[in-house]
Formats: sequence, C-alpha cells, structure tokens
Amino acid sequence: MPELPEVETIVRNFRPRLVGQRIASFNTSWPKSITPSFPRVRSALTDRSITALTRRGKFIVLHLNDASWLLVHLRMSGRFEWAADAPRRPNHIRSTWRFTTGEKLYFCDARKFGRITHTHDLAIATADLGPEPLARNFTPTALRTILKQRRRQLKPLLLDQSVIAGLGNIYTDEALHRAGLHPATTSDRVSATQSERLHESIRSVLRLAIRNHGTSIDWIYPGGWMQKRLRVYGRTNEPCRTCGTPIKSLRIAQRGTHICPKCQPKNGHKRTRRRKRSTKG
Ligand SMILES: [Zn+2]
Repeated sequence: MPELPEVETIVRNFRPRLVGQRIASFNTSWPKSITPSFPRVRSALTDRSITALTRRGKFIVLHLNDASWLLVHLRMSGRFEWAADAPRRPNHIRSTWRFTTGEKLYFCDARKFGRITHTHDLAIATADLGPEPLARNFTPTALRTILKQRRRQLKPLLLDQSVIAGLGNIYTDEALHRAGLHPATTSDRVSATQSERLHESIRSVLRLAIRNHGTSIDWIYPGGWMQKRLRVYGRTNEPCRTCGTPIKSLRIAQRGTHICPKCQPKNGHKRTRRRKRSTKG
C-alpha cells in the first residue's frame, strides 16, 4: 500500500499536470468507491477547476475552485494514470476525469479498495487523522506525549492513522530499526532518549524515501528507488546493514514485521556505546 512518501511523490508528479485543469466530466464504473454518491460527486466536479494538489496522511487532496475538496485514497492498489502517458488504455480503470483540454486522468484500482470522497469541509473530512510527521508541529515533545498517553505496542500505535498520519508497514519497520526499538515495546515504557531517537528516525526515513521517490516493490507503484535503501522491510534472512545479524520476520498485532534481533532487543534498552566526551580543550 502506498504510504506517505509514495503519495507525496504522486502528488508532486501530478501537480503540474492537474493544477489549473477544468473538469469537463467525471465518470466511474465502480460507484461503490465514491462518497457521498456518484451522481452527487459528478455534479460537484463538473465544470470545477483544480486550484491545488496536496497530501494529507495517505490522502491525495484535490482543491476545487468552489472551496470544496476531493480526497483520493489509493488503499491497496489504487494509482493515477495520465492518458497522455499511456497510448494503451490502462487496465483496471475505475474512474475517469476528462478535462476541458481533452486530457484524461484515470483512477485505476485492481483490488477496488480505493476511495474517492467529495467534501465541503476538509477539516471534518480529515478530523480523524493524527499529525503530519513532517510538519513543524510534530515535535519531539509531541511524540513523547503520544507515547506516554497510550499503552500500546509501538508497531500498531505507529500504524494507527489517528495517532500519526501517513506511516504504513514499510516506514514503521524502518523507523523502529533506525531507532533501535523493538516493535512490541509498550509505548509508555519508551524513554525520553529513545522517544527523541524515534522522532528523528521517523522524519529522516520519510525524507530519505521522498528523495528516493518512494518504495517500488510491486507493479502498483513503479518509479521509486527507496527499496534499495531499506534496512529491514522485505529483507528477511538478509544481513542487517548495521550489525550483520540476519533480519527476522515476525507478526505483531497481525502485521508482518521485520526486525534486527540484535539492534532491536526485546525488553532491553539498546546499549549505546558512547565515547566519553573529553573536557580537555
Ligand atoms: Zn542489526
């Protein structure tokens, strides 16, 4: 499933093509994916212009010129296809935007879990989402408060979109490895130092992934390079890039999880070897 870096990459790629376009028509072959209903969304979109394209969590947000918004969630297999890019008609087209320029945007979705929602109130539509991990208000203190207030295992906690928006299986595993934390650690037992390291790890891995255009591990999301930089996700039995120990896969809260058993010890605090700083000038 595309996570924050993949959705951010899609938004950046499609922004120059979509912003300024006027929608001539909107059609779907899968009305179940459209909220509140296909007829209402069709009439809300027709003749509207797209004024901006942004991201909130894993949602793609199309801003329309009547101060309403269209939220697209790709879920398992959703993707955008630009008609000009695809001389062949792409597979699994569920919805189509035709613009007054004659160009078309397809929403393709093999597994049909993707969702398209029109709203007149973006704040209400996104009220269930936690903070953006790359936003300024997501401070080390904010994460410390989140961890302290909840007594949940780190893995399901970080995956919960109402706690932090945008992390999925890949970047949760990667951030926890970089922070040296076992994913089954209970959040209120994370020390201040560990919490600060986790904050830094979440942000640095997301920034690195955006720079690498996200992770491409299947045909659904092509074009990314981050898979070459992953340290644990999808690397079962391969050596840890930090210590050489084989990466282990396990299930935590029903989710496939990848760890280095040495860098992410179960109940212990990671032993950090710190050189004593010399006070001599
Ligand atoms: Zn290791």
